[in-house]
Amino acid sequence: MTLEDIREVIKNSKTIVLFTHENPDGDAIGSTMALYLILKKLEKNVEMIIPNFPNTFSFLPASKDVLVEPSLKKYDLAIALDCADIKRLDDPKETFLKCTTRVNIDHHPSNGMFGDLNFVNHVAPACAQIVTSILEYYKIDIDKDVATCLITGIITDTGGFRYEGVTSETFEIASEFLEKGVVISKVYRDVLSNISRRKFEARKLTMNRLEFLENGKIAYTYMTKEDIDKLGVNQSDLEGIVENGRDVENVEVSIFLYETEKGFKASLRSNDYVNVSDICLLFNGGGHVKAAGCTLPYSLKESKERILTQTKRFLK
Ligand code: 5GP
Ligand code: MN
Repeated sequence: MTLEDIREVIKNSKTIVLFTHENPDGDAIGSTMALYLILKKLEKNVEMIIPNFPNTFSFLPASKDVLVEPSLKKYDLAIALDCADIKRLDDPKETFLKCTTRVNIDHHPSNGMFGDLNFVNHVAPACAQIVTSILEYYKIDIDKDVATCLITGIITDTGGFRYEGVTSETFEIASEFLEKGVVISKVYRDVLSNISRRKFEARKLTMNRLEFLENGKIAYTYMTKEDIDKLGVNQSDLEGIVENGRDVENVEVSIFLYETEKGFKASLRSNDYVNVSDICLLFNGGGHVKAAGCTLPYSLKESKERILTQTKRFLK
């Protein structure tokens, strides 16, 4: 039983390091920080490495403990959270592979099972929900701070309890956390509704240039490096833009491309029947059935053409 193995390895480890995926979202950060707080309470020598920590999450209880790189070369245990693919792990010194034991805790169907011990639940709507179940299984007390981190992960990855991956357990957890004093309405506002002025300007630009293609089944928009520099936005400001296209009637797939050093990052979302993870896998990406991403190492014109050609094949 993996959970027993993971319990054993945690028990026998003195030094532990936690990693998550690059361009971390609320689930990546919430899951990592919750586990960090728990391991600290268990008196472990633990570090959480999040090289690009977005400001949005600075209200979380242990944000001041986040490190940009590990302080040791090797740890007894490394744990990756919310990361489907070892290539996406934000691990600046490639420490993960050097540690004695590696654990992978995740909820992406495309997970590459890159750990020595893997605890991957494809149907969990958020990695934070898996972490919650693990803590419950271990009968570890979840205090208000840990619960705040976990609910942040759950709220972000479920779009505020909206997505179909939400289970009855999700609401049970939310209800328990409310009883512990977590102010869900505040977390909701901090991580979902409240946006910076820069983020608003990025939304405005991408909405203005949004195109409806294939009889309105595809919504497409983009931002170039020039747009990004002009507005002074960072990657975390671009989160959620792809949702604007998905929310329009008749749209099945929404696509948002934005330029990075590696080419155009594509964010895809679908509404009903298209498996966008399958489309992204064609470009070495991945994700979930209705939310996935990949990087297209081409010009804007070619990236658009390639992603649209593949997306059209999946439409009815
Ligand atoms: P987003 O569009 O918000 O960047 O990502 C949506 C989902 O797809 C997330 O669960 C994210 O982890 C996953 N994802 C995004 N980009 C990539 C990628 O390049 N490779 C893989 N494997 N997954 C990705
Ligand atoms: Mn997640």
